[in-house]
Order: sequence, then structure tokens, then C-alpha cells
Amino acid sequence: MSIFELLQTSPALFVTVCSIFGLLVGSFLNVLIYRLPIMLERDWHGQCAELRGEKIKAQAKFNLLVPRSACPHCQHAIRAWENIPVLSYLWLRGKCSGCRAAISPRYPLIEAISGLLCGYAALHFGFAWAALGAMLLIWALLALAAIDFDTQLLPDDLTLPLLWAGLLFNMANTYTSLNDAVLGAIFGYLVLWLVYWAFKLITGKEGMGYGDFKLLAALGAWLGWQMLPLIILLSSLVGALVGISLMMVLKHGRNIPIPFGPYLAGGGLIALFWGQTITQGYLQMMHV
Ligand SMILES: [Zn+2]
Repeated sequence: MSIFELLQTSPALFVTVCSIFGLLVGSFLNVLIYRLPIMLERDWHGQCAELRGEKIKAQAKFNLLVPRSACPHCQHAIRAWENIPVLSYLWLRGKCSGCRAAISPRYPLIEAISGLLCGYAALHFGFAWAALGAMLLIWALLALAAIDFDTQLLPDDLTLPLLWAGLLFNMANTYTSLNDAVLGAIFGYLVLWLVYWAFKLITGKEGMGYGDFKLLAALGAWLGWQMLPLIILLSSLVGALVGISLMMVLKHGRNIPIPFGPYLAGGGLIALFWGQTITQGYLQMMHV
């Protein structure tokens, strides 16, 4: 029996393999989330310096692979056994083995979420391309949500390939028809663009960024235009609830920007797994 036949006939094995794969990629996502914004900033500084005709200072190489991960406090290089998703964090009791400085619980959290969601994708879609696509979407959304949370940026380097990948998967009608996917990408961008300009003309403030439009366009490309109302509704609802509670609990100022990307990403994931069920139930309730 080939490995593919084995995975196809044993759902439990397929879910286990996808969960472990999710944990491992989750570990790489932590690197991406931390390094991509720094790489972009370096790049922008370099471009500005070039435009001003300044000499560009030589900097140490910094990308997703180089330098090796190290403790930010003592520069202790992370060894392989300290880099096992979730387990190493538990084994080290959340502390660097060199200097005992606390390691952020966000690292194992991202790994665990990635592992759980990938396992669920395998269970939900079974041994099919849809499961592989769902895992890609999960990783991109996790990275985008965390980067937006940290830096209020949704890098084009992630949102644009995500959009193309959604169209590519739907060429084979994986989640929706290609027609609905293309319309989803267009309307996803347009609807937030309109909200942005309406908000700006009325209040003179910027409510969200262009990255949000591109992220919703990408979700439209993956899930089809029919899922856009649900995604917008879910993300605005949760965003408003969190925003109001932050204002009440922390006396978080009304003018401090709250990133919208994490809510869009969450809404997108709910629509990926349960969008069809939710919209059908809703339509039945309306008797249409
Ligand atoms: Zn250390």
C-alpha cells in the first residue's frame, strides 16, 4: 500500500499527519511573523536612502533563514531540541535555557493553533486538495493576523500571493466556482474601499488601511463573493465587541487604531469551515 493510499483510507492517520505538519509550519510562522516586518522596514529604508542619493550602509544579512534563531536577551542560539513545537516550550517551562529569560507564550500558542486548525481542516475536508488549500489559507491568515496585531501592517507579500492562490485552487472549483471567486476578489476589495472613503469623507479619519481591502479580496477569491457579507458581519461584530470592551476595561482611547486584519482573518476561517451551513441556516430562517 502506498503512503497516499494509506492516508486516503485512514482518516485518523491523515488528521494526525496534518496536525503535526501544522505544528511544524506554525514554528516557521513565528519566524515569519517576527522577521517579515523587519525585512520590509529595512527594504523601505534602503529604497528611501537610494532615492535621496545616499550611500547604503552594508548590513548583516537578515532574511527568513539567516541568521539562526537566537534568544533576544542573551543571543544563545536556539538548538534543534529547543525548537520542537509546543513541547520545547513546556520542557523549558517557558524560559531560555541560557539566561532563563521568559519566552513569549505566543510562540507555542501560534504553533498549537496552527496544529489544531490543520488537523481540523483534514477532518473537515478529508484527503483532498481542499484540505491542502485550507492549510495554506490557515497559515497565511495566522501570519497576517499576528503581523497586523504587532505592526498594523498587512504586507502585500502575503495578501497578493494569497489572492492568486485562491483563484488557482478555484480553477478546479475547490471551494467555489472560478466566476464567483473572481467576483469575490473584486467585490471584496471594492466594498471596503467604499467604506474607507465614506468614513474618510464623513469623519476626516482613516478607519482602516489598504491592506484590509486586499485581505478581504483574497478571502473573496478563496471563498466566493457569497461569503463576503458573512465575513464582514462576523469581523465587524467581534471587532466592535473587542473594541468596546478594550475602551471600557483599559480606558483604551477611542482614537488608538485597532487593527482590523485579525478579525477579517477570523471571519474568513469561520466562513471557510461553516460558511455554507451558516448562510443556509440563515436563508431557511428567512423562509427564502
Ligand atoms: Zn537567553
